[in-house]
Amino acid sequence: MLLDVKNLRKDYQRGSQHFSAVNNVSFSMAQTDFITIMGKSGSGKTTLLNMIAGLLTPTQGKITINGTYLFELNDKQVSAFRNQNIGYIPQGSSLLPNLTALENIRLPSYLTKRENQSSLNYALELLEKAKIGYLKDTYPANMSGGEMRRIAILRALICRPQLVVADEPTSDLDEESSAQIMALLTEVHQQGTGLLIVTHDNDVANYSQRKLKMSSGRLID
Ligand code: ADP
Ligand code: MG
Repeated sequence: MLLDVKNLRKDYQRGSQHFSAVNNVSFSMAQTDFITIMGKSGSGKTTLLNMIAGLLTPTQGKITINGTYLFELNDKQVSAFRNQNIGYIPQGSSLLPNLTALENIRLPSYLTKRENQSSLNYALELLEKAKIGYLKDTYPANMSGGEMRRIAILRALICRPQLVVADEPTSDLDEESSAQIMALLTEVHQQGTGLLIVTHDNDVANYSQRKLKMSSGRLID
């Protein structure tokens, strides 16, 4: 099993009110799966993804990725594990403005000891495959929203993760850019990467094999 989420909960407080942003969520995912989780704004999608990516500690529950129980690891180990196993595509723009496309894509590989010629070659190969080689030396300020999003996807792939998670990868994009993003993500999946996307866009969900729904922190199959 690639990902196993069991009885996951995240509690927050608003004023004196306690509530569960993610409420007793369980599901699992195989290496060959492409799953989308749909749900309205505020339903807990980002909170769930952040826990899966090891960025946020659950109030309760368990996450296992490829047999590794995430929260048995210390902070440094979680970061290293995430870097090597999970490609995380955050919501909105997440590129560093003073790095070029190529430098942004290679950034995660600088954080590991493996940074070398092969990461350069692989970044160039990813750019070519995504048909955006022309962006190589371009800074984010000179890219369209869809181009920035595609660079963020390639950055998530540079360490060859087994699991890619994307938070609303097509939000704020026109139809054509959304289709390009989904073509790229579909290809990532076809090459053997587990893909988990949260979205409120029905068109995005239609690309996936399995659609889950989130509502008020709860997951419905
Ligand atoms: P979605 O991504 O589906 O829009 P979120 O996971 O961002 O939903 O948020 C789920 C709920 O949790 C929302 O009501 C949000 O206001 C609340 N929430 C998210 N993060 C925090 C936080 N750090 N502190 C308190 N409440 C939060
Ligand atoms: Mg969100």
